Amino acid sequence: MPEIYDTAIIGAGPAGAAAAIYASRAGLKSLWLDNRFIPGGQIADSGNVDNYPGLPGISGVELGEAMAAHASRLSMEPTRAKVLRLERMEDNLWLIHTKKADYQARTVIFAAGASHRHLGIPGEEELSGSGVSYCATCDGAFFKDTDTVVIGGGNTACEDALFLSKICRRVYLIHRRDTLRADQAAADPVLHTDNIEVLWNTVPEEIIGTDVVKGLRVKDVKTCAERELSVSGIFIAVGMEPASALVSDLVDIDETGYVVADETCVTSAPGFFAAGDIRTKPLRQVVTAVADGANAVVSVQKFLQQAG
Ligand code: NAP
Repeated sequence: MPEIYDTAIIGAGPAGAAAAIYASRAGLKSLWLDNRFIPGGQIADSGNVDNYPGLPGISGVELGEAMAAHASRLSMEPTRAKVLRLERMEDNLWLIHTKKADYQARTVIFAAGASHRHLGIPGEEELSGSGVSYCATCDGAFFKDTDTVVIGGGNTACEDALFLSKICRRVYLIHRRDTLRADQAAADPVLHTDNIEVLWNTVPEEIIGTDVVKGLRVKDVKTCAERELSVSGIFIAVGMEPASALVSDLVDIDETGYVVADETCVTSAPGFFAAGDIRTKPLRQVVTAVADGANAVVSVQKFLQQAG
């Protein structure tokens, strides 16, 4: 007979790590799966995480490792495996197909996360963490009194520009069209803030710098004129890509690809819980992801009690 787990946690970012810690402490028989070799999910790719309470200045890698070490103390180690398919079987168990093996669990905590969309321009990957950031709330404070640029025209870009305008000397917002995608409440303050300059119909071409960002070469799409902005920080806010393809036919997904779930992490599929950046929520941060991990385990416990 195959082993049946109380819960299968998919993802070893902050939400998955918190779920693993809470599941272990709750005495649940748990399986923890993750595809990556480095713990921490998205935060392993960020420089410093300066807004996680109690750990100012910790690097993303260190925070990911600390969470994994905490889970390990409770005998929770992620099994390295790429989940290929998830299936709800007739007996209501979840079947998790991975490249290595198949597993069965009464519940799933899906914490596969989301990733920031990248631009794919020269300098972006090389200078990521050295002036290129995908999170103004996380990294903005490192650019105090300098000139920075935000790329994008959505709510995130506008919120980032406004956030940075309180820290930085000058903020350029560059957008590829002549109207913002952001709603009026987010756009209006940007358009009325003195130290934010919006460059319309403008696209980024190349990030300049060797060890750290020195500037951004941009192009006006109407005139094809190019210019170089001298900036030390580049904040890319061109949308997110949730890792929900695996479950899009199993649970309700919103129009932007996120799994529909509130703070309880309960989804439209019985026994399937969504935690962290993968779920619909107003603020995607480490602190909200770890809260989800805890809430998901409480929801799993309630579900298992009711299922008997
Ligand atoms: P978004 O709404 O998808 O906006 C992405 C922006 O990036 C768009 O303006 C898009 O331009 C631009 N863009 C995309 N690819 C690009 C490229 N390759 N080069 C240059 N520009 C590019 O993403 P978001 O701002 O992250 O927001 C995601 C969702 O979360 C939205 O539904 C948003 O309303 C929501 N959100 C809500 C709040 C809030 O309620 N407080 C805060 C943040 C986000 P185009 O406009 O030309 O497509």
